[in-house]
Amino acid sequence: MSDVSGSELRALMARVPSVEKVMASAEFAALIGEYGRTQVLNAVREALDAWRISARSISAAAHSANSAHSTSAPQATHAAADTATTPPFSALDTVQLHATVDAALRGRNEPRLRSVFNLTGTVLHTNLGRALLPDEAVRAVMSALTQPANLEFDLATGKRGDRDDLIDDLICELTGAEAATVVNNNAAAVLLTLSALAANKEVVVSRGELVEIGGAFRIPDIMSRAGAKLREIGTTNRTHLKDYDEAINARTALLMKVHASNYAINGFTKEVGIGEIAPLAHARGLALAVDLGSGTLVDLSQWGLPREPTVRETVEAGADLVTFSGDKLLGGPQAGLIVGRRELIAKIKKHPLKRALRVGKLTLAALEPVLQLYRAPEQLAARLTTLRLLTRAADEIQGAALRVQPALQQAIDARYTVSAEPMFSQIGSGALPVDVLPSYGLVVRMTDGKRGGRHLLALEKQLREMARPVIGRIADDALRLDLRCLEAADEAQLIAQLAAQSGARTKSN
Ligand SMILES: *Cc1c(COP(=O)(O)O)cnc(C)c1O
Repeated sequence: MSDVSGSELRALMARVPSVEKVMASAEFAALIGEYGRTQVLNAVREALDAWRISARSISAAAHSANSAHSTSAPQATHAAADTATTPPFSALDTVQLHATVDAALRGRNEPRLRSVFNLTGTVLHTNLGRALLPDEAVRAVMSALTQPANLEFDLATGKRGDRDDLIDDLICELTGAEAATVVNNNAAAVLLTLSALAANKEVVVSRGELVEIGGAFRIPDIMSRAGAKLREIGTTNRTHLKDYDEAINARTALLMKVHASNYAINGFTKEVGIGEIAPLAHARGLALAVDLGSGTLVDLSQWGLPREPTVRETVEAGADLVTFSGDKLLGGPQAGLIVGRRELIAKIKKHPLKRALRVGKLTLAALEPVLQLYRAPEQLAARLTTLRLLTRAADEIQGAALRVQPALQQAIDARYTVSAEPMFSQIGSGALPVDVLPSYGLVVRMTDGKRGGRHLLALEKQLREMARPVIGRIADDALRLDLRCLEAADEAQLIAQLAAQSGARTKSN
């Protein structure tokens, strides 16, 4: 019996079409047009190799099944022998091969960076890309992508320019600072500032501000990477002005304050304000650097949002340098902005790391129109996407929840019940961690009232695997989808995607 499968195998192998023949066939011309010859050729070879390997292993299984004795798993023996008589592709033809190769190429060429629905309730979600750009910025990026631009070219003189010149005036206008520069992100801004101004010297920081921001940004680590020596003062909960005063010595380069972005200390606490530290620093001939983190440019309390110190207030209070992110509350592209005294910014710009950490033209293209929106503060809540999402009224979000609820209920199993309920969103990205915004969304629980741990996980996965993944969160025995970040166009797209899913479900039932 054993050589039946052997001869069958040989016959099948002989019928495998040659790579050259496959590549020259009409079916493959379109694939070659789309993906190019190299990729298609590799995919064809892989598919043929995979076919040969599986044909051989089936033949080998049949062989050993036939020579095995009945004591060892007779059922398995039977099954293997059955498959041997019906190999995977009894006649491997180009049509079949085409389907395999097409699927492989499509899968491999699908973009890994994909649009998702952010229904986490965290508006500035670092893992989902933080701030979304307003249309003005998107258009500017499009032009910068497709047309040459005066990135480092002075149009007035025809000479070489400095990329910072494109936006430093605008940043100074909005912050009240003397000078400004932009780098890759705020972590880079802090690293560069410390490297340029405090290498081999001491930087005085309160113990209450030695924070980790997440994603491995820790003030003590950045400090040592920059070659600066951290001089910790005070205690976790209380630091006094005299602690700063007593720490200053001949090796001191900077006094530094760090905004404790993602945690809050409550109770018996004492923090020294910039308005008190700055005069001390200046009297001792030192500079005060402030890492503001979020760095909002306007007072958010005018929209009923929690108050954060603005960059202008920080500069006016006496900070000599302020660093902040472009893609947190500012609502722009990923960037780190450094503003402050002219001679300090000049020193920072001359440091070799500035070249390594500089921003590209796409960042500058996006940042300029975002900053320009701040010149019309009365329109900001409508035009700056981040602020529009943060200020969205709960009853407007409730409207969306009521429209999406039936679509979601239809798309998922009857074991789950979807209800529209009030909830709270977060700003995110370390801004104002203790504050929450009244919102509305969908809450999915088990219909039988049980806790449904793994069923909820399965549903969460199902939504995450949709064409445009839906990202929610599981808390309190429910899957929660906060609709704050689902504006009109996205709402329509989500409903359509859910409707397609219900259609598929109905068909398969
Ligand atoms: C977010 C944050 C950073 C890091 O900023 P990135 O732009 O993410 O590099 C640094 N410091 C503080 C205080 C922050 O809040």
